[in-house]
Amino acid sequence: MTIIVKKFGGTSVGSLQRIHAAATRVATFRSKHPDAQIVVVASAMSGETDRLLSLARNLTQNTYPRELDAVAATGEQVSCALLAMALEDAGVPAISLNAFQLPILTDQQHQSAHIERISSERVQNELAQGKTVVVTGFQGITAGGDLTTLGRGGSDISAVALAAALRAEACYIYTDVDGVYSADPRIVKQPRRMGKVSHEEMLELASLGAKVLHPRSVFFAMRYKVPLVVLSSFSHGGGTWIVSEDRIMEKPSIVGIAYRLDEAKLTVERLSSTSQPLKLIFSALAKEQIGLDMITQTGYSNGHTDISFNVPDEKSERALHIVQQLVPELGARGASLERDLARVSVVGAGIRYHADVAARVFSLLAGEGIDVRMISTSDIRISVVVPRKYCEVAVRVLHDGLIDLSETPGEIPVESVSVPAV
Ligand code: ASP
Ligand code: MG
Repeated sequence: MTIIVKKFGGTSVGSLQRIHAAATRVATFRSKHPDAQIVVVASAMSGETDRLLSLARNLTQNTYPRELDAVAATGEQVSCALLAMALEDAGVPAISLNAFQLPILTDQQHQSAHIERISSERVQNELAQGKTVVVTGFQGITAGGDLTTLGRGGSDISAVALAAALRAEACYIYTDVDGVYSADPRIVKQPRRMGKVSHEEMLELASLGAKVLHPRSVFFAMRYKVPLVVLSSFSHGGGTWIVSEDRIMEKPSIVGIAYRLDEAKLTVERLSSTSQPLKLIFSALAKEQIGLDMITQTGYSNGHTDISFNVPDEKSERALHIVQQLVPELGARGASLERDLARVSVVGAGIRYHADVAARVFSLLAGEGIDVRMISTSDIRISVVVPRKYCEVAVRVLHDGLIDLSETPGEIPVESVSVPAV
C-alpha cells in the first residue's frame, strides 16, 4: 500500500477552524485515494511554542534545557490530539501519537536534538487497522527516556524523517504559501513559483535563507530520496515538487535567489603561514559553537597573507574577541571585523551547465555599482557577500536578470512522480 505523509505547519492548525479545514482536506484526499494510507504530522498551533517558551523565560533567568523541552513538547501534543478528533468527526478513523509512543529516538542535545532512529511499528499497526495516524512534529525522546525537541521549525524534519522511515511515496508539506518561489515576494515584484526543483537545489535555497522548509528536512529528503511537495493549506492548486535530480526532465536553469542578512566578515591581518593559524582559529571558534565559512586568503606579499571568513553577525563580536586573544600566538598583526553584511545567492543546476552565469552575475552587480566583499561558489550556487544596504537591490537585479519568467509553471507537474495528484 502507498503511504503518504502530510505535514501541517503551525498556521495550518492555528485555530479550531483551521484544524477542521486540515481534517477536511485529509478526508477529501482519502476519499479520492482510498488505497493510500495517510500519516499526518502536525506542528503546535501557531504562536503556541513561543507562548510556552516565554512562560519559562518569564519564570526564571536560568535555562534548563531538559525542562524547556518538556514544556515545548506539549504544544504538538495538543494540536495532534485535536486534529485526531477533528478527523474522526470528518469520518476518518484516526489516532494521535506522541513521538515517545513510536518512539522517535534522538540524541541528548536538548532544544536541537538530532533524530537517530524511528520505530515505525506502532504506526504501521495503526495504519493496518485502517487508521490515519497523527504524529507530533518537533518532538523526540532520548534512549534514556527524556523528552527532546529538534529545534525551532523542526516539525518539517519529523515529517520527512518519518516519511523516510515508512518508505512513503511522498511527503506533502502544507504551509501558508503555495510553493517555493524564485525570490522573496517582499523584495521581488513577480517571483515565479517553481513547479519542480531538485533536492540539491532546495537544500541550497533553504540553507541560504529561503524560509519555507527547514534545511535539515531537505537533507533527509535528499538522502532518502523522499519526494516533497510544498502546498498552501489555505488554497487549492499551485505547489512545488522537490524531487531527485534524475526525476527532473526540464532543462537545468536558475531556480532562485536567496539571501541572508546576518553576515559579518572577520579578517586576520598579516599571517606568515596559514595552516597552523587556521587550525588554531577554527578550533577556538568551534569550541564556542561559532560556525564559519567562505574562507578567503588575500594580499599575499613577502610571505604574509590576510585571511578573511564569514561568521554570523550576532556572534561576530564574540568571534572577534576570541581571535584577538589569539593574535600574539598567531604572529598576526591584528584582527578586524566588518559587520552589517548580507549574503545573496544564485541557485540552480543551470550554473553547472552554463559557463556564463558567473559573468552575468558580476555584470549585473557591477551595473548597480554593488561592491562584492566575498564570493563562494559550488556547481549549483554562486554566493556573494555585499553590504547589507545593497541586499535588496542585488536580489532584484539578479532575479530580473537571471530568472526566466516564461517558465512559470501551470498546475503541478505530477506525471513524473508516482504519487496521486493533490
Ligand atoms: N512548533 C515548533 C516551532 O514553533 C516546531 C514547528 O513549528 O515546526 O518551532
Ligand atoms: Mg515551519
